[in-house]
Amino acid sequence: MNVLKTRLMARENVPLADKVCPRCDKRYTEYPALSRRGNVDICSACGSREGWIDYAPIDKLPLVILHEEKVFHEKIGEDYKVWLEWKRGLPQ
Ligand SMILES: [Zn+2]
Repeated sequence: MNVLKTRLMARENVPLADKVCPRCDKRYTEYPALSRRGNVDICSACGSREGWIDYAPIDKLPLVILHEEKVFHEKIGEDYKVWLEWKRGLPQ
């Protein structure tokens, strides 16, 4: 069984209500988004937010966003520096 199928099956066992987004710490009931930062479910709003953060040129991102990214990476055990290096390497 491939990893994606295993992951989708695991998601089906999670009740749609009573989930807390690890990125914004808010409760949500909609179907989760998969974080671009690691193998964790986040709320749909944060999924869109990560997409916009990845799309925006790094020199246009406020420091508070970069701090938010660092805190979230540490929270889920991912390496912030790897994401930052990737982000800096994108065409501006
Ligand atoms: Zn969220």
